[in-house]
Amino acid sequence: MKKVLFVASESDPFIKTGGLGDIAYSLSKYLNAEGVETSVVIPKYKLIPEEVIENFELIKTFNVAIGWRNQYCGVLSTKVDGITFYLIDNEYYFKREGIYGYFDEAERFAFFDRSVLMMLKEINYRPDILHCNDWQTGMIPVILKTQYSHDEFYKGIKTLFSIHNLLYQGIFSREVLTELLNLPINLYNDGSVEFYGGVSFMKGGIEFADKISTVSKTYAEEIQTPYYGEKLDGLLRWRKNDLIGIENGIDYDFYNPETDKFIYTNYGIDSIDKKQENKVKLQKELGLSVNPNIPMFSMVTRLVRQKGLDLLISIMDKLIQMNIQIVILGSGDKIYEEHFSNLKIYYPNKVTTLIKFDNELAHKIYAASDIFLMPSLSEPCGLGQMIALKYGTIPIVRETGGLKDSVIPYNKYTGDGNGFSFSYYNAQDLHYVIENALQLYYDRKNWAKLMIRSMSADNSWKKSAKEYIKLYDILCN
Ligand code: ADP
Repeated sequence: MKKVLFVASESDPFIKTGGLGDIAYSLSKYLNAEGVETSVVIPKYKLIPEEVIENFELIKTFNVAIGWRNQYCGVLSTKVDGITFYLIDNEYYFKREGIYGYFDEAERFAFFDRSVLMMLKEINYRPDILHCNDWQTGMIPVILKTQYSHDEFYKGIKTLFSIHNLLYQGIFSREVLTELLNLPINLYNDGSVEFYGGVSFMKGGIEFADKISTVSKTYAEEIQTPYYGEKLDGLLRWRKNDLIGIENGIDYDFYNPETDKFIYTNYGIDSIDKKQENKVKLQKELGLSVNPNIPMFSMVTRLVRQKGLDLLISIMDKLIQMNIQIVILGSGDKIYEEHFSNLKIYYPNKVTTLIKFDNELAHKIYAASDIFLMPSLSEPCGLGQMIALKYGTIPIVRETGGLKDSVIPYNKYTGDGNGFSFSYYNAQDLHYVIENALQLYYDRKNWAKLMIRSMSADNSWKKSAKEYIKLYDILCN
């Protein structure tokens, strides 16, 4: 049986800030079901609740060299849904109020990367594949290839590096290489991890991993171009034969309006009328005008530039004039948090902004709203639109990355499609498709047909898990 260790900076059901957390857990679950023994390792953050930690057992402690420091590392383990989870414990690095965004990110994840590799030998667990994810794990293939490959225990372990978002690269000063990672400066001098005078964890992963994947077919193509490539497009073109796009899926155990425990009223393809009850109850709960006939738009998102919020802001004056409601759940950059919070103050009957991360409320919003907005500037895969589709909440997206791959634009002549989309990053184009969508919304019969098509789309993990297995097979042969 093939063994895979999925290495990530977050994972459900313990800690999640975005899509990566969903994927770590759901993909591992499906891989296990398909006969690939998959385990997951993440840092032990303070934000993982104490009562959850109680289910873990401390299985090993050892010391990890980080520059001149010798740091404690504890490995905790437990099993959930057949997946073995490991936590890397060091309170100095991970017992903090948040997860990301600290001044010493380079040191925290240099520690994590080296600890994961050391852990393998310490607990005598030798996976066939280390499946690394995003920049936080980018130095694992580098350390493995340059420092561990002579060691019998590590010989033959393959690496897959998955890019979930090229926008976040982990770029630090070059001293990080020698002073924290204990790696030779020639990796900087020969350009392998050098990035415009600094060191890039992401580049390290791309350069040293045996294979590279990203989370949709379109994004795999896009990142090889200067517009989306974030200055790594040249390297990605160079490695294009080892680069593959595999769509993420969503976990229908969690995202299914028929069984969802968080929503007010369950509904399915055979009972789409009941969806409205969710809208009315949410309107009441949020203090919006209570009327099932008002179309409700929603966003559940990180509030960052990548999500196309500037387009929405540009046309907000026009949207406010329409007979619609807008519900936004998200957190992120202050500038957006404040802007959308102010809208709620000015238009309390029309706009509700909730600045927080709230999984239960997210489910309620997916179920209650009619139209889901995702006009992203770039979107490696996107889970929001897939969840929306399952809940019959029609997505309006920009045609980029996974949005392009999963949302088929409505064709008024043939009646095909499951959502609405526009191509250029342009506010007027967004406004135009919103108007088109609204026109169809009032054509109740055709809207119902559209909802059924959207709810029938299959974005489950099953298909994607099979593609990963194929890739693992290629790696091991
Ligand atoms: P990204 O990974 O770029 O943040 P994705 O669309 O791939 O975007 O994944 C975002 C995931 O996080 C979705 O499951 C979405 O519902 C969820 N999410 C985003 N913001 C919030 C929030 N404020 N509260 C609850 N869930 C959220």
